[in-house]
Amino acid sequence: MILQRARDFELSTRPVDRETTEALARRWDSLPKSAQVPGQMLGRKFTGCEATHGVFPKCNFACKPCYHSADANKVRIDGPHTLDEVSKQMKYLRRRRGWGTFSQLIGGEVSLLEPDDHAEALRIMRALGRIPMSFTHGDFDYDYLRAVAVGEDDKPRFPHLSFAAHFDTTMVGRADIKKPQSEAELHEYRGRFCEMFDRLEREYGITHYLAHNMTVTPENVESVADIVRSCQAQGWRMFSFQPAAYIGNEARWSEGYRQLTSDIVWSEVEAGAGTTLGYQAIQVGDTRCNRVTWGAYLDEQYVPLFDDDEPLDHRAVSSWFEAFPGNFVLRGRAESAIRAARCIAASPGVIPDAARWSKRFARRGGGIMQPWWRARPMTFVMHQFIDAADTAAGWEHMKAGTRATEPRIVEAQERLEACAYTMGHPATDELVPACVQHSVLDPLENRDLATLLPLPRRRNNTTA
Ligand code: SF4
Repeated sequence: MILQRARDFELSTRPVDRETTEALARRWDSLPKSAQVPGQMLGRKFTGCEATHGVFPKCNFACKPCYHSADANKVRIDGPHTLDEVSKQMKYLRRRRGWGTFSQLIGGEVSLLEPDDHAEALRIMRALGRIPMSFTHGDFDYDYLRAVAVGEDDKPRFPHLSFAAHFDTTMVGRADIKKPQSEAELHEYRGRFCEMFDRLEREYGITHYLAHNMTVTPENVESVADIVRSCQAQGWRMFSFQPAAYIGNEARWSEGYRQLTSDIVWSEVEAGAGTTLGYQAIQVGDTRCNRVTWGAYLDEQYVPLFDDDEPLDHRAVSSWFEAFPGNFVLRGRAESAIRAARCIAASPGVIPDAARWSKRFARRGGGIMQPWWRARPMTFVMHQFIDAADTAAGWEHMKAGTRATEPRIVEAQERLEACAYTMGHPATDELVPACVQHSVLDPLENRDLATLLPLPRRRNNTTA
């Protein structure tokens, strides 16, 4: 009995559990060589981000572009269907990708779910080792948020909530500002969204992580820097930018998306942050899909954690990845502390490496005399979807086990193979990149759902 307990304790406090270790190894092995770089997070820290699909496709906005398929709005929002599907998809992802991933509750507009259904979906995701993030247009009030976060007994249902809110001028339908004419007009609404979560924290102690999402088009790209500068102190922890792509509902496409290169958009983000934003020291999948910079604001000054041009920063990342494989997501504090202690005991060199990196980081921010206690963590992200036609061709090659030869399709195939944003399909036993989901699978899936969950019929007003 004692031996068994000791063995259970040893297993439960291993830096990474066996299932997750295997899932990480599979993910690493499946990456194309171009993505197997020292700072690659996939396959070392986590298996990638995830999202739900086909759970509540409907949305009450009319954005241009829109990544949902044309039939999405013909599907009724249905709580039992949502919960059943979320549960199946999350169980599948848990089995294929281990514990400790970030998962978006997405697929339509999440706030159209009844609060109890929304809360139950989050609970299911957490129970299966996912950190859920509700993805919304942000057009709901405090009463809705409280009803999701707090039970009928007036007690918090969750210690922490994550929401990603989409705010930009490509969107049409916000209650008080149906068709904004400039990004600056939306700053007030961006701020109000953050204030709702501050209030929830004050009243119920529920902490939050808020990501700001923006679709970038040739029309609004010049507003990116101002959004970052004007809204960085509102309470966001992430600014994520999606250059528009030819994906989703074709009726909502416009001209000129291909002129918007990643470099153009990223340079606007850098102008807003007031500094160079390195994205090579740590990489999430393929940098043609994702650029990510972690750092912190010291009042108005943004200080990135790593400098791409500093070899010692690259070494610090390698040292950290080797010492702390996997992550501590959704683990208890005591368990995490023991895991961390075991990691350090196995790789003591990580301590001096971390100390030297801290000195460099402090120097970048102006020295140790700066008011570091006021530092606010902030992550900048750019996620560039692949055009639907290229995705479909790249996916065909992946399914057939062949290699593309046309340069555009070679790129699409490599990016899909290194995808950092995946949907689970338990029925076909497939992990599917979100580009493939939106370009290839959503149209069929939503057509079937429109039959399964038809909209309520309109009442016939003619009298007999
Ligand atoms: S969803 Fe598409 S753009 Fe995003 S990481 Fe995957 S392949 Fe790249």
